[in-house]
Amino acid sequence: MTCKFFVPGPTWIRPELLAELARPVIGHRSAEFRDLYAGILANLKPLFGTAASTFVVTSSGTGVMQAALENCVARRVLVTTCGAFSERWFSIAESLGLEADRLDAGWGNAIDPEALADHLASRRAHYDAVTITHNETSTGVTNDVAALAAIVREESPGTMVLVDAVSSLGGMPVRFDEWGLDVCLASVQKGLALPPGITVAAMSNAAIERAKKHPYRGTYFDLVQYKEKADEVSVPSTPSIPHFYALAAQLGRIINSEGLDARYERHRQMRDITLQRTAKFAKHPGDAAHASCTVTALQPVKSPDAIRTEMKKRGYTLGGGYGEWKETTFRIGHMGDITVEDLNAMLDVLEEVALG
Ligand code: PLP
Repeated sequence: MTCKFFVPGPTWIRPELLAELARPVIGHRSAEFRDLYAGILANLKPLFGTAASTFVVTSSGTGVMQAALENCVARRVLVTTCGAFSERWFSIAESLGLEADRLDAGWGNAIDPEALADHLASRRAHYDAVTITHNETSTGVTNDVAALAAIVREESPGTMVLVDAVSSLGGMPVRFDEWGLDVCLASVQKGLALPPGITVAAMSNAAIERAKKHPYRGTYFDLVQYKEKADEVSVPSTPSIPHFYALAAQLGRIINSEGLDARYERHRQMRDITLQRTAKFAKHPGDAAHASCTVTALQPVKSPDAIRTEMKKRGYTLGGGYGEWKETTFRIGHMGDITVEDLNAMLDVLEEVALG
């Protein structure tokens, strides 16, 4: 099994998981589906580090980001930003007509907990929620969600903490209960190495109670429905059943076969190897102390486009730069089921290309 696909999502998928998509469809109100979903819900708990409600939504991650805002914010939200995907929370909030403030750390930086504390202390108006992007995929920077959520709890009790774990879940620890989160979501095409199309989420009781107070939270993205149906091991509407098969198989493999700790350690190794082996030909423009375990953005001496084109000729796909860093960087996705051996084999070729 050799992976030559190093995009920061969607990621390379094991053939046996792709085969799960071809299984015969079952009715989503059948006993077989209940068994399938029961296994998924049980395995999502350790993945999110929670005893709270977990569920699966047939949508990409952006849909559930919107749902989190629609369900938990009546009026005002603080969006912490440090790159393109954290900005997405802001544009969704604006599109919903919410009052959105931004606490911006600048591209490539991590959100500073002290800056968040100062902002919350100096602001007299109450925020219904604060959004945090665990891993900013555009810059390869990981935010310290534990510290940031603790600040929200301390400085602004009653404010919900909404976390995008799209490119962290499955590649680095998420501790929903310990960190005191209210909504945490991740689409499955990144750290979980599955085909895009569904999103997994955890939601606190406080967030459910908050959502219940919002009469106009829509139908498809009504998270109260997802939670109540999940309590009955069911779903509000017809889900993408093939994706559920693949998710069940992958969660079982991750939890019972690879093990979460081993998986996180493999991702840490992949980050360290990537940073170390690329230092000869590229600058790492992001905050080094917060370098991501799942994606590395690099600013090479040579043209990033030329490097990617040459790599493509040799069979390797790397990620392009994104947003403000589009022209100056390229990105290496090292997440999901990629092995250290595959990464090293790719870096051997990249070294030749970038230094040649
Ligand atoms: N958030 C982050 C951190 C992402 O990396 C992405 C996609 O790359 C998204 C949100 C959007 O997720 P989706 O494409 O599943 O809607």
